[in-house]
Formats: sequence, structure tokens, C-alpha cells
Amino acid sequence: MADGARRIGIMGGTFDPIHHGHLVAASEVADRFGLDEVVFVPTGQPWQKEDVPVSPAEDRYLMTVVATASNPRFQVSRADVDRDGPTYTVDTLRDLRAEYGPDTRLFFITGADALDKILSWKDTDQMFELAHFIGVTRPGFELSAAHLPDDAVSLVRVPAMAISSTDCRARVAAGKPVWYLVPDGVVQYIAKRRLYQT
Ligand code: ATP
Ligand code: MG
Repeated sequence: MADGARRIGIMGGTFDPIHHGHLVAASEVADRFGLDEVVFVPTGQPWQKEDVPVSPAEDRYLMTVVATASNPRFQVSRADVDRDGPTYTVDTLRDLRAEYGPDTRLFFITGADALDKILSWKDTDQMFELAHFIGVTRPGFELSAAHLPDDAVSLVRVPAMAISSTDCRARVAAGKPVWYLVPDGVVQYIAKRRLYQT
């Protein structure tokens, strides 16, 4: 880009497990916005999911590493996994801003369902100062930035992947396949660690 600043995408998520909806969204936004890298950041303890059982952070982190290993522009950060307490996106952005320095532009990628609830997140004003937000389409959810400040958010249409981690977990628990919903290595990791078997 003209100012030479590095452009880094950030894809936050519980990734329990990571699936092709996450990967397509990241790839598509990287292409559209000319991103140098996309950093996937698995949450530590997600504050919105405190009453739902979530797999150990280390398993979610490793599945994210396995899923992104083949793409030279995809990275995985331990920032949220290694921070104590519930994960808030504003802390993720502060940590990555400190790591990448002031000459980097940060783009936080979020699906339509998460974008819809973003004003309930902590310190939203600071969040919007730290990064530009990119809302992506997701089947079953309406994509809108009408509730958000002008210029804080861009909206991007991505190939529709009707996949959710909730559905992947339910499939494994019911003995149904998750092949082609998640990367092959993630299918094998789930089996090896016997995740989602009630
Ligand atoms: P769960 O069902 O456990 O909530 P999930 O499939 O929603 O899992 P998350 O880890 O909660 O996955 O989502 C991380 C981010 O990825 C969120 O911003 C979410 O909106 C986005 N996302 C998840 N699935 C898709 C999809 N199929 N298409 C586009 N965006 C998605
Ligand atoms: Mg979700």
C-alpha cells in the first residue's frame, strides 16, 4: 500500500473446532484488503460462553495451528490463550498492537453474528481506535453496520459456508462425519484427543 504500513488481519474465535467457514472468511478478506498476514487468535476463556463447556485452550490452539499450517500468510497467536481471565477483544488488540508496533494497520475480521453484538463488548471506543473492523457474511445472519460508528467497519461478502463449530461438535457427539467441514488434520486431531464425545 502507498504508506508502506504492514496490513495485518486478526481473526478471533473460540475455534472449538476451527472449520472452513473461518478459513474462507480469512482468505477472502486477506485478498480483498491486501493483507500481508492473518493472525488467528483462539480465545482463552470466552466471556460470552462462560456457562457453556469449552474444550481446553491448548486443544483449540493446536487445532488452529494444524488448520493454518499450510498457508504461509496465516499465523496463530497465543496472546489470548496465555492471558489470565476472560478474553476481551480490546485486550487482544492492545497485545497485537504492542507486538506489531505503531506502523502496522490492524483489521479485525468478524462474522455477521458477532458484529451484531459488538456494542456489548468491553471498551468498544478503544477497539475501534486500535483496528478497522471487517464484518463478513454468514448464512442465517443479517450483515449490518447501521448500529456502528461511520468508518469503523467495512462489510464484505464471502462465499457462504453454512458451518458452525456447534454443529461440528454435535456431529462428532452423534457419530456423524465432519470430513470436509473442517480440515483433514482437524478431523484426525478430534479423533486422537477424543474431543466432543459425550
Ligand atoms: P460456535 O458455534 O461454537 O459459536 P462458530 O462456528 O460461531 O462456533 P466462533 O469461533 O464462535 O465459531 O467464531 C469465530 C468468528 O468466526 C466469529 O466472528 C464468527 O462470526 C465467524 N464465523 C464463524 N463461522 C462462520 C461462517 N460459517 N461464515 C462466516 N463467519 C463465520
Ligand atoms: Mg460463534
